[in-house]
Amino acid sequence: MSTAENWDLIIIGAGPAGLTAAQYGARANLRTLVLEQLAPGGQALLIEALENYPGNVGLTDPGGTRIAEPRTGFEFAQDLQRQAEAFGARILTEQVTGLRKEGDRFVLTLGNGETRAAGAVILATGAEHRLLGIPGEKEFTGRGVSYCATCDGPFFRNKRIFVAGGGDSACDEAQYLSRLSSQVVLVHRRDRLRAQKALAERTLKNPRIEVRFNTVIREIRGEGKVSSLVLERSDNAGKGTGETWEEGADAVFVFVGAAPRSSLAFKAEKDENGYILTSQGMESSVPGLFAAGDVRSSPFRQVVVAAGEGAVAAHCAAGYLDALAGS
Ligand code: NAP
Repeated sequence: MSTAENWDLIIIGAGPAGLTAAQYGARANLRTLVLEQLAPGGQALLIEALENYPGNVGLTDPGGTRIAEPRTGFEFAQDLQRQAEAFGARILTEQVTGLRKEGDRFVLTLGNGETRAAGAVILATGAEHRLLGIPGEKEFTGRGVSYCATCDGPFFRNKRIFVAGGGDSACDEAQYLSRLSSQVVLVHRRDRLRAQKALAERTLKNPRIEVRFNTVIREIRGEGKVSSLVLERSDNAGKGTGETWEEGADAVFVFVGAAPRSSLAFKAEKDENGYILTSQGMESSVPGLFAAGDVRSSPFRQVVVAAGEGAVAAHCAAGYLDALAGS
């Protein structure tokens, strides 16, 4: 048996799901540890205006003047962290490299070689951005190719910026980039956007964003940094038609979806895309191992959903631990 430092509940990942689970775990009197390899906040940190989170509204005075904007994902994440810590959860910056079950305890191996143990674990590791997988993408990453508009957008002020993708992320980030440049071109492989209606409409109406449907990026070219793209006309299924051309570009921001970070849960059942399957109580097929947020198989990936799932997971983890202790 391992002699690892013992906790009631360990949460892996400090995005909205993990931080909400931490708050609920700590409030349920569980000794709760959150392990996050990067900064708390997860992908929410990248959201420019978290305008669809319930209650996070912008304010307009009776005369119609805008007096407050919705909080950013960054501000929201800071509040979640403060709230979880205020209730007693401990949040550490550590990568988890291994997860195994020894009897009724989970043992986690950390990047620094140490181990931690817990009676229940909530995996809230989220998902990571997908690549386009085209020539030039890896070569020019950090030199014109980016996956984060708020991080790298300011380097391309007034430049010709391409955005790849047609979902919420692509539209959200194109909106942000359009404040830095009037030459934003959003390239989508189909004939309509996948993003939520309000966001899609705003993107289509934005005079600083040119939306190009039925177009895919086939190659990114340049010398030392991005200078042009090879584009191809695509049909409505997103397949290339063979008609290609080259256009000047200074940057490409890629937002073509995400893949789950579910490899730690190697024994848990997953769907065909690798997302973790759970019960209504967020418990995976491994008893005591819960999943919440973007890593979980779900029809709707939103901050509000992640937070809700985090609360359910912590509540049910507390019930699992009670049952384990025979109380
Ligand atoms: P997504 O909804 O999966 O959209 C990915 C987009 O990229 C789709 O339009 C897809 O095209 C396109 N795509 C995929 N692979 C491609 C390729 N190889 N080449 C070209 N295009 C490709 O992903 P997302 O926009 O990152 O959003 C992920 C989740 O987070 C969603 O559930 C979303 O609602 C949520 N989210 C919400 C907000 C918000 O509410 N403000 C903001 C960001 C994200 P097809 O349409 O042809 O499949």
